[in-house]
Amino acid sequence: MNYYYIETFGCQMNVHESEKIAGILSSRGLSATDNVNLADVIVFNTCCIRDTAEKKIEGNIGELKALKRASPEKILIVSGCMTQQKGRAEALKKRFPFIDIILGTANQYELGAELDKLCASPKRSKRVSVRFDDRPPIDESVPVTRTSYPNAWVNIMYGCNNFCTYCIVPYVRGRERSRDKEHIIAEIRTLLDSGYKEITLLGQNVDSYGSDIGNVTFYDLLKDIAKINAKFRLRFMTSHPKDLSEEVIKIIAETPNFCNNIHLPVQSGSDRILKAMNRKYTRKRYLELIETIRKYMPNCGITSDIMVGFPGETDEDFADTMSLTSSVRFQNAFTFVYSPRAGTPAAQMEQIPKEIKKERITALVALQNRISDEISADYLGKTEEILAEDAPEENVLVGRTDTGRLVRFAGDRSLIGSFINVKITKNKASALFGEIVNNG
Ligand code: SF4
Repeated sequence: MNYYYIETFGCQMNVHESEKIAGILSSRGLSATDNVNLADVIVFNTCCIRDTAEKKIEGNIGELKALKRASPEKILIVSGCMTQQKGRAEALKKRFPFIDIILGTANQYELGAELDKLCASPKRSKRVSVRFDDRPPIDESVPVTRTSYPNAWVNIMYGCNNFCTYCIVPYVRGRERSRDKEHIIAEIRTLLDSGYKEITLLGQNVDSYGSDIGNVTFYDLLKDIAKINAKFRLRFMTSHPKDLSEEVIKIIAETPNFCNNIHLPVQSGSDRILKAMNRKYTRKRYLELIETIRKYMPNCGITSDIMVGFPGETDEDFADTMSLTSSVRFQNAFTFVYSPRAGTPAAQMEQIPKEIKKERITALVALQNRISDEISADYLGKTEEILAEDAPEENVLVGRTDTGRLVRFAGDRSLIGSFINVKITKNKASALFGEIVNNG
């Protein structure tokens, strides 16, 4: 076997897990290819956050049938959240009998061993290996092949305890398990020593880091990261408004390496809907948090997730979401329409009509776009330090401000990974454009 091909669906957590899958395959001597026809091992790392995501993945798996028929020696692996739902692995096996290995989220690190078992079985019998364990162990020895230089993703915890009523994550990712602080710090130091310039901490709810092991908190972790003597950027996702503390906000503000950028999903501006969502905070608590963030970081780039059309959402509830959006003025927001996710409590609640959801999302998107445009205009003429992250075209670079705004500017790809001073010269919708003023 020479090549592997990985297709990743879903969130940053999955992107990073695909880096671990790549690490396992690389450690067995395989190289990455982006040509599925060339690959000996094909992995679909799946997502089940929305029904549409699952349909798309099923479509993509179906498209491989002809390839598998022509080259039955190719190994097709389906892993990730979709396979971890009760009964889903068996259903996938029935519908797509040409899948060789089905692997859950809890034991993705066993991919190498599963490959060995498959190859050792005389008839290459198909394998389904999904464990329903709420607290699967954390394996610190999994190799990682990183794909996002100059950024490196670092898991600080896995799983979620919150059971928001619309969300499938706790059912497919198990309960919160935090990594040891020492392992995290060692991983960050190694990454910085090998040239990474940005570290993004990952967890479904980073603010509750350590609550499962005791004697350590997210603030403690940040305090230790703040002591690292190097120039880099630290970001993290995702914060939960019920748990984000003032001491965490303060240390972000005080530490030059920590980006003034907080993603704080609000989901709704209505207390009634927040309660039905089981979010465990109120509109008042959320607005107080925003006030605290702005007290310590007046220019903090605050972004959010906002949902419309949750079951039972009235015109009044939606008006509360609109008024909260207006008063907070998020730099950007991921706005979306609620869609029922089988297996979650909200899917059993009385749904509201599609046309109403459509009207509401149109109004919310228009409001947020206007706010994002106004905030973009405030950047005009300013010089920002940008970390050059990618070169989407010849002589074009993209990178982000400390506050998380994407900026596009002319420059050679050799500058990827450099901190560069860029003067913002143009804004178009929520995109910023600029030119290099000197190399920082
Ligand atoms: S905090 Fe809520 S929305 Fe986020 S992963 Fe956990 S259950 Fe899902």
